[in-house]
Amino acid sequence: MQALEMPQPLAGESPDWLARLNDFLEGHGRWSGELQAIVNKLKDNMPLSHEDGLTLYHHPNLPEIGALADAVRTARFGRQTFFNSNVHINQTNICVLACRFCAFRRGPKAKDAYAMTVDEYVEDLGKYAHAVDEVHSVGGLHPDWDVSHYETMFRKTQSAHPHVSIKALTAVEIKHLAERSQITTKTVLQRLKHAGLSSLPGGGAEILDDDVRAVICNGKESSEEYLRIHREAHEIGLPSNCTMLFGTVETLDQRIQHMISLRELQSQTFGFQCFVPYPFLPDHTRLPEAQLATGTEILRTIAVSRLLLNNIPHIKAYRMNIGDHVAELALQYGADDIDGTVQKESIMHLAGSTAPLDHDRSRLARLIRNAGCEPVQRNTVYSTFTPYTDPEPTHRRLRMAQ
Ligand code: SF4
Repeated sequence: MQALEMPQPLAGESPDWLARLNDFLEGHGRWSGELQAIVNKLKDNMPLSHEDGLTLYHHPNLPEIGALADAVRTARFGRQTFFNSNVHINQTNICVLACRFCAFRRGPKAKDAYAMTVDEYVEDLGKYAHAVDEVHSVGGLHPDWDVSHYETMFRKTQSAHPHVSIKALTAVEIKHLAERSQITTKTVLQRLKHAGLSSLPGGGAEILDDDVRAVICNGKESSEEYLRIHREAHEIGLPSNCTMLFGTVETLDQRIQHMISLRELQSQTFGFQCFVPYPFLPDHTRLPEAQLATGTEILRTIAVSRLLLNNIPHIKAYRMNIGDHVAELALQYGADDIDGTVQKESIMHLAGSTAPLDHDRSRLARLIRNAGCEPVQRNTVYSTFTPYTDPEPTHRRLRMAQ
């Protein structure tokens, strides 16, 4: 199947999505009274307010919120659901910080602490490179690694596997490398882009509220620093994703403000490709006061993010975190992306995720079709899109050959 080259600003969206949305919303019939003002704003693609966000969170009819989010998703993308062929390689679990929610990090002397050498990293990727076009790499803040370590890692990766796009490093890792190397975060980004980095995965946003951060990830970058580092990435042509970790100690107000802060930055840079909301997974971590999100809360948060973030094209149902079953449902609640084949992942699984790691493209496509959607393989930066068709069964091919 031939890949379609799409103009980047559309990122796979239908160019007449707003007219389609108006048709959907008018054809739906009556919406609940308190939703009508929100529906009117959506028809004009006006950004929803903080109060609108609270209305959506408190509205008693969750399926109606889901229908509204699904209308926006369908107007933009039809039933297309995007995925890619990727592998997650977490290069080290040694970290100088100790965020309270984190089940992944280890001190340098822990028995199960590890730090892959550059050659080990490239060799590990080599086991998957035939089947992937993206490597997603985030890890701990290693006390000895500076920017030159990652320059070497990315250069060797590019040289060994030139078809693999490198999506790596969170904002706090960029900040750590800047401090270790005594250069600015923007210079780190420029040097790493030059060495082969193609985008940032967006992890580590948690909740962009410094009171929440002081409780769950004291010592990590501030809210302002997360936004500044992503702004700098966008300014030099590095696209990024953005995330939200919910279900720890934050309020609904803080969740909504988090989304609005991302939307405001996006209105200036247009560098965010995708928003990835995921709930806190409690196992083995040290945050007993966490609220823990329920299944319906996950679906509602995905729907609210689709409606509030009118300028971030893609909303991801991150199945590594929410599991395949909720991810399928999320595709009816505003999500249009389901991440990738993944194959290997440590951070979410150490925190308690049981999402399968052995999905090949056919299994992922089946999951998407079960949700009434059409699987479309994308590249890392959402510029090529290939409708996915299953390979012919081997036995049929053999019979035809006889
Ligand atoms: S979340 Fe990241 S920065 Fe925080 S302890 Fe874990 S690995 Fe370190």
